[in-house]
Amino acid sequence: MKYKHIFFDLDHTLWDFETNAYQVLEELYHTHTLASRGVPSFEVFHRTYMMHNEKLWDRFRKGFINRNDLRFKRFSLTLLDFKIGDDKLSHAMGTQFLEILPYKTTLFPNAKDVLEYLAAKNYPMHMITNGFEETQLIKMKSSGIDHFFTHVITSEVAGSLKPYREIFDYAIKMAGATADSSIMIGDALEIDILGAHNAGIDQVYFNSLVPVTGALKPTYVIRDLHELRDIL
Ligand SMILES: [Mg+2]
Repeated sequence: MKYKHIFFDLDHTLWDFETNAYQVLEELYHTHTLASRGVPSFEVFHRTYMMHNEKLWDRFRKGFINRNDLRFKRFSLTLLDFKIGDDKLSHAMGTQFLEILPYKTTLFPNAKDVLEYLAAKNYPMHMITNGFEETQLIKMKSSGIDHFFTHVITSEVAGSLKPYREIFDYAIKMAGATADSSIMIGDALEIDILGAHNAGIDQVYFNSLVPVTGALKPTYVIRDLHELRDIL
């Protein structure tokens, strides 16, 4: 067998971030009675939030803003688009979003089945994630997948972010693995796939929404997690 160590990304790869975040935002929308403050519908609120969140994550990854800016501004900018200038509310929503989100439990179809399959084949499995340390550990516990993973390498612990090579090198070292006997499974071309490629690690790209484009060719492309059985 070529591969001895398996590295997974968490958000959007195993843990269905979109579905889980959608549920939390809907709860917050109702808890804070945003309809009564002029937000026309939850769908519009959600769309606006997603747009700001995406832009701010990009700035965060590039090092232009810090974690606290990200947590607060994605709500303050969203609320401002509806003429709600309320820093207290923005802070409250930013905090509550992160408090509630990790307890949501939706995984992608076949995630648990395929982890059980890989565990039964005795593959050591690890997580490499850009998410926040405390949040990622709760997500894994809440969704019942924490016991599958030997090492959980977050950007906070590694002092580096995917796609930078340092976090992959750190993960390989932690796991006692080698790059050429490892494989990385992730949903983000520019983050998981490019990063693993640059660290000499084979990659599985799992993202049915974004097709492969550009020069980067992942080692494998799958549309459903159960296809990992054909590779591993
Ligand atoms: Mg991801």
